[in-house]
Amino acid sequence: MPELPEAEVVARQLRTQLLGAQLTECLIGRADIVREGLPTLSWYHGAVLEDVERYGKSVVLGFKKKNETRYAVAELGMTGLLLFRTTQTKYPQHVHVRMSFTGGREPELRYWNPRRFGRMSLLDQAGLDRYRTRRFGVDPLTVPCDKFVHLLQNRRGRLKPLLMHQQVIAGIGNIYANEILFRARLHPNREVNRLREATIGTLYATMQTVLREAISCGGSSVKDFYAPDGTEGQYKLRHLVYGKEGQPCPNRCGRIIRRLQSERSSFFCPNCQSNRLPG
Ligand SMILES: [Zn+2]
Repeated sequence: MPELPEAEVVARQLRTQLLGAQLTECLIGRADIVREGLPTLSWYHGAVLEDVERYGKSVVLGFKKKNETRYAVAELGMTGLLLFRTTQTKYPQHVHVRMSFTGGREPELRYWNPRRFGRMSLLDQAGLDRYRTRRFGVDPLTVPCDKFVHLLQNRRGRLKPLLMHQQVIAGIGNIYANEILFRARLHPNREVNRLREATIGTLYATMQTVLREAISCGGSSVKDFYAPDGTEGQYKLRHLVYGKEGQPCPNRCGRIIRRLQSERSSFFCPNCQSNRLPG
């Protein structure tokens, strides 16, 4: 957390509030928050924010100055947040980057990260291309269905870890993997290469429905997710299995939601998501 829907919500707010704004100052609180590109920091001063994109769970800010474009990539996976100045956090000492803007609807953007599992990178175009290739698989919202089918048919192993494998499919983490698999009625441990094409088609449609619905709800606020403007995501209210161990199956099949013995973060219904059915 944040996962793809939360990162998408962040990207959309940044576009609305800051596209076209000029970066006047960028203060880095601790040098180790920048994974790559710290010596290029001074270039960004005076550059205009031209583009905001989401890759997987990361948000990429594209800055332009004269004829050159450079990027700042903020990793949000695990604990990172991008916040406007008015949004208060419990631990303000964990604001590690402050970007001041002029000409936008917000004067400041902060990168807050209490556990520092995420980083920022300052990259030129070639650096961004390398970064994308190395870290991100297909995007679940834009990959065509036939490509998704082909991707799964050529993988081995269990289904849930594959859905969460960022270099294969970028953006899905534990919360949405649980929710997608329950709705698609697939056991987390199903063998990927034994899924029928029609089953993968159902999984594909379910994955897109869940992620789009979550985006429209502002994401899920679990473990401290806030959008840049401080709003909490409401998709948490629509979670069916994540964190629901011991509760009755929402399909009313009569069984209780359980956790996998081997992997305690996997929630499922042993009846609706049986691992014994063929196909
Ligand atoms: Zn059930």
